[in-house]
Amino acid sequence: MKGSLLYEGKAKKVYYVDGKPEQLILSYKNDATAFNGKKKDQFAGKGRLNNLITARIFEHLHQQHIPSHFLKALNDNEQIVQKTTIIPLEVVVRNIAAGSLTRRLAIPEKTALNPPIIELFYKNDELDDPLINDDHAKRLADVTEHDLDHIKILALKINEILKRLFRQADLEVVDFKLEFGRLADGTIVLADEISPDTCRLWDVTTGEKMDKDVFREDIGDLIETYETILQRLEENKCVK
Ligand code: 5GP
Repeated sequence: MKGSLLYEGKAKKVYYVDGKPEQLILSYKNDATAFNGKKKDQFAGKGRLNNLITARIFEHLHQQHIPSHFLKALNDNEQIVQKTTIIPLEVVVRNIAAGSLTRRLAIPEKTALNPPIIELFYKNDELDDPLINDDHAKRLADVTEHDLDHIKILALKINEILKRLFRQADLEVVDFKLEFGRLADGTIVLADEISPDTCRLWDVTTGEKMDKDVFREDIGDLIETYETILQRLEENKCVK
């Protein structure tokens, strides 16, 4: 069933599916990278955790009528998705100031951002994923004004759904990164992953960081942290 390797990224391998050209298999790796690959390590079990957490979140988003590439989890480390052409934009939604925003604009960490702030980054490792505006995106990512409006509306809807979902797991959604892709007919859908690698999640009670910042800042056990996220999502009644 699993065909040849199409692409290997920092966190996932992408395979063709034999006999189904419109589908792909994403295989989640145990590698962790930060600061555009400058910091690297491997954590046994990380691929499984991000695969299962992403699967649960995408299933929940599907129930809430968010169009995405996700079809189903195949096993602990792999999921099957609809093939898309990835739009080379990282769409970041921020509810609380943290990370690059605090450094770039001197907004103190933990400042509430209401309404949330959406930022666009150009997905390009050689350029270190620079922050761009809508005009740059139209020029660089082959998107129209209408596409960008649609992407931003979807990103804000996803934010509301994720905030509610993670609240029930005693986690605050500080910020997260989304990627979108186009199906063969041009429809834009949510793609890639949503996991503690791509979100900042803070424990509501203790304020503890429960995401990849644990690795970026060397402040805890990554596997224990991601395992806690999966357990809390599994205990959560609204995620089947
Ligand atoms: P920041 O711009 O503060 O570094 O990141 C904002 C949010 O987007 C964080 O939740 C971060 O994990 C996510 N994010 C931004 N860029 C990337 C990226 O290239 N890879 C991953 N995995 N997450 C990213």
